[in-house]
Amino acid sequence: MEKRELVIIGAGPAGLTAAIYGKRSGLDVLILERGIPGGQINVTDEIENWTGVIHASGAELADSFRRHAEHFKPEFRDDEVKGISLRDGRKIIETGSGDIEAEAVIVATGVRFKKLGAPGETEFTGRGVSYCAVCDGAFFEDQEVAVIGGGNTAVEEAVYLTQFASKVTIVHRRDSFRADRLAIERAMTNPKIEVIWNSVVENIAGEDMVEKVVLKNVRTGEITDLPVSGVFIFAGMDPNVSFLKGAVKSVGGGWIVTNERMETSAEGIFAAGDVRDKYLRQVITAAGDGATAAMAASAYISEQLHIQSILLEPEQVTAFIYSSIDEPQARLAADIEKMTASGSSKLVFLDGYSNRRMVEKMGIGDLPALIEFKKGSISRSEVISDLESARKFLS
Ligand SMILES: Cc1cc2nc3c(=O)[nH]c(=O)nc-3n(C[C@H](O)[C@H](O)[C@H](O)COP(=O)(O)OP(=O)(O)OC[C@H]3O[C@@H](n4cnc5c(N)ncnc54)[C@H](O)[C@@H]3O)c2cc1C
Repeated sequence: MEKRELVIIGAGPAGLTAAIYGKRSGLDVLILERGIPGGQINVTDEIENWTGVIHASGAELADSFRRHAEHFKPEFRDDEVKGISLRDGRKIIETGSGDIEAEAVIVATGVRFKKLGAPGETEFTGRGVSYCAVCDGAFFEDQEVAVIGGGNTAVEEAVYLTQFASKVTIVHRRDSFRADRLAIERAMTNPKIEVIWNSVVENIAGEDMVEKVVLKNVRTGEITDLPVSGVFIFAGMDPNVSFLKGAVKSVGGGWIVTNERMETSAEGIFAAGDVRDKYLRQVITAAGDGATAAMAASAYISEQLHIQSILLEPEQVTAFIYSSIDEPQARLAADIEKMTASGSSKLVFLDGYSNRRMVEKMGIGDLPALIEFKKGSISRSEVISDLESARKFLS
């Protein structure tokens, strides 16, 4: 089976940034992408909130991200990931062209927006149809726009859009919103917002850019035209996680839960970008996540190698495992080091705080502890309270 150090799934802003950081840390990096490198920004018309670039088209930015990553020579592979399985602590990535074993994996597969499926929606995406108010709202200064949806996102984004648009019409298929009371109150008291109830989008039309939305009243069947320059669709979005099949902890429909190091619940699997359970889904936050995930993955790989070489490969070794953030434990480690300095057999000192996953995996409960390994397995262990108990264990 093919074996790689770091495998990144998805070449959007998160994955490409992770590739840059991964390669600069000296790792062997493979990026698997089923579409065009650049991710969602490929379908973004204009971007004005990537720091340092006042204005760029999505395609330009995607191209510069890809070229930047390519400069460090990761391997790009055009492939779709179908599954990830954890076999005896090994991470196996299943792709259309075979399985790959990775030391660490970064999942950066982004999201897909739920579409209405109305005629004109795909054709006008990036030309008036948008799925992101923060991204595209500013392009509709003093213009009239429609917001489609009735949940929290739709109602809150409608209020956000009133900063730019001269009028925002919310179109909802029911006769009441499914949003929080406060969000509804804010929208209903905003003089720039109007609501059209019980209506769905029949089609979106225009010449080059959106000019109108054709609506159908679901109760009366009446068809009306709503002249607008922009249509913001908030029918929801889903993370691209079906291939994970529950391998990592997620919330509310699959958003991957991570800590601040982008570690998921599965050891050696990291997540970055829009696919995570997070507050703001934008290019800049995706890139930040990618950088963090790659650095954490690099630290994880070196820890694994270090642990392998000092604990598991030698015929016999004894280790003192303690928590470096616990002062008495750190002091005891220093005292034991002094006590054993002149001895013939070498004692290994390992920080159980920064290697806590390894400590858990080995089934080591309380720290500090002295552990004796024989041929990679624990042969003897004891929780150590003072210098005397350490002396006894080592004698
Ligand atoms: C219309 C639109 C306008 C936007 N405008 C802005 C803006 O102005 N400013 C801004 O900051 N943000 C904007 N965004 C949001 C921004 O594009 C995203 O936040 C950002 O792209 C997220 O990056 P990512 O790397 O997490 O995911 P993505 O960009 O979604 O990349 C994920 C990649 O993973 C790949 N992938 C998914 N599943 C698999 C699989 N199983 N195997 C292999 N590959 C897979 C996908 O093909 C994709 O290339 C906009 C988004 C849209 C849709």
